Amino acid sequence: MLKGKIALVTGASRGIGSEIAKKLAAQGAAVIINFNGSRDRAEEVKKEIESFGGAASLYQWDVSNYKACEASMQSIIKEYGQLDILVNNAGITRDGLLMKMSEEDFDSVISTNLKGAFHTIRFASRQMIRQKSGRIINISSVVGVAGNAGQANYAAAKAGLIGLTKTTAKELASRGITVNAIAPGFISTDMTAGLSDKVKEAAAAQIPLGMFGRPEDVAAAAVFLASDDAGYITGQVLHVDGGMVM
Ligand code: NAD
Repeated sequence: MLKGKIALVTGASRGIGSEIAKKLAAQGAAVIINFNGSRDRAEEVKKEIESFGGAASLYQWDVSNYKACEASMQSIIKEYGQLDILVNNAGITRDGLLMKMSEEDFDSVISTNLKGAFHTIRFASRQMIRQKSGRIINISSVVGVAGNAGQANYAAAKAGLIGLTKTTAKELASRGITVNAIAPGFISTDMTAGLSDKVKEAAAAQIPLGMFGRPEDVAAAAVFLASDDAGYITGQVLHVDGGMVM
């Protein structure tokens, strides 16, 4: 389905990002795995993709760093000559109630989760405009739609991603590029592993389908939005949250 396509997934060394990378590769795309700190885990994802005959390469940079992103995107375009799919998945949390949240914790979450996507979109869209085609998928969150006590920084970044998605969708539609967001609910990954059983139980009680989602659930939605079948869908927020927010 994605044979001949080149896909870049940020923060793809684990969790949702690694699952998206694997599923895109399984559909035939050559996948560029961006990672920041965890080279070993990124190598494992690459090996897994290669084990089923897929193609993957590693690119290390911190998505919050504009200059590093510019340099890496330039070498990606030079190496591959094209870029068809961009998935902005890299994200962090620095939770805390607003009254106690430090400026540093607010800024670092905005820089990684929101500005990081601006950086990649800025450089990827140049190439996609030249190609007159492209798919951009931003991983937002249910929290960006509904808010969440203790996550002012994260919710602001994820809501910002939705605004960024809709605006770039409008700007790039005439160039054959679609831009959509996915808003996952609670997904079982390292990001949610640290939650106490009490918090997990309370969260599951708010989910009509009664359980946390899996990275595969989000990856399936990303593969769909990256496919030709989703060609008439742009500027949308696809909720993958077991019905949490309707
Ligand atoms: P995770 O912590 O397992 O993965 C996040 C990935 O982003 C890691 O590989 C990490 O190394 C990478 N990353 C962080 N900062 C980076 C940087 N500056 N540059 C490059 N890479 C960086 O978390 P996850 O649950 O897999 O989350 C993936 C995405 O999904 C995030 O954007 C997250 O906000 C979003 N999300 C997750 C959930 C959930 O319940 N797990 C819910 C909604 C949205």
